[in-house]
Amino acid sequence: MKQQLPGGITRQNLKLSDGRDIYYYDNKEIERSAVDKRAEKAQPGIGHLRLDQLVNEWVVVASHRQHRVFLPPKELCPLCASTKEKQTEIPDSDYEVAVFTNRAPALTSPEANWKLPQINGLDTPNPDAAGACEVVCYTSDHGTSFAKLPLSQIRAVLEAWKNRDDELSKLTYIEHVFPFENRGEEVGVTISHPHGQIYAYSFIPPRVEKMLSAAKDYLKKTGRVLLDDLVQREIKDEKRVIAQNSEWIAYVPFAARYPFEIHLSPLRSVARMSQLDEKQSEAFPAIAKEILTRLDGVFGIEMAYIASWYQSPVNVGSDCMRLHWQIVSVRRQPGKLKYLSGSESAMGAFIMDLEPEQSADQLRQVKI
Ligand SMILES: [Zn+2]
Repeated sequence: MKQQLPGGITRQNLKLSDGRDIYYYDNKEIERSAVDKRAEKAQPGIGHLRLDQLVNEWVVVASHRQHRVFLPPKELCPLCASTKEKQTEIPDSDYEVAVFTNRAPALTSPEANWKLPQINGLDTPNPDAAGACEVVCYTSDHGTSFAKLPLSQIRAVLEAWKNRDDELSKLTYIEHVFPFENRGEEVGVTISHPHGQIYAYSFIPPRVEKMLSAAKDYLKKTGRVLLDDLVQREIKDEKRVIAQNSEWIAYVPFAARYPFEIHLSPLRSVARMSQLDEKQSEAFPAIAKEILTRLDGVFGIEMAYIASWYQSPVNVGSDCMRLHWQIVSVRRQPGKLKYLSGSESAMGAFIMDLEPEQSADQLRQVKI
């Protein structure tokens, strides 16, 4: 089935041999029909959620994930396109952007009528770990990175994110959709092929819950949207802004927690990824490429980072929470990483040894 998406991108939906979905997103006109010739393997079972009663936060227990592949050599990469000799997760012999259901998902589709139980102290039940985990392959080129992709390819990735956000958020058991990328072994990447993931949760994750509460309070007190006012302050202050175009602004946040932290927000704010309009989508690739190139340029090395899309949860908060992209790097200097210490890990109280204005300056000075 072929579906036309904005930006001239088409989506085609096929099945892998074990029944998982795979979606191809293409700029060019092409028929996708390659068949997954691998022997069908049983899908792993579903994990469960446990409530950490000390803080009333859900923990996903997914013990079936222990046998995941770990840093395979390029010849065994499961995210490269398939060849005659080797069948990978992507049956076609080449692709632009491909998204498929994770083979060992921490969260997966539950039985019909699944519902998150009410929190009830020690008596809270342990429901199945409902949700979805998908892998987003940015390119078939194993040796490149998001920052080095052509603009048309970044647009295809954006359309894939928007399309998956739109579809996942329609599932009755999904409360929050989170597209993200971990890059670099330093942040736990187990496959070096350029890719990201989408986690769709059946509960609102703790950090989003916290953001939601801050945004709700702000709206109640001022009648305004918090992120809109934050962006206005960045524009006024100027000194933390590192890039801007007609639709987006990138800045080091006022209270950055990491030595190199960049936030990218649309100037006309939207609650969810799937609400980005044509002008915003068109303007995204150039600035996305610029900020990641600046990040890599600070020390002239590929920086390990976590790039996270924050947006409104599916069923609440669209009046006050706004979409933005947070990119944090754990590197403070070449050869030096920021490890989360007792204060950060145990207390959640971050200590920054670099002024956000200084790191903004370093990022701005990178020659593109
Ligand atoms: Zn690969």
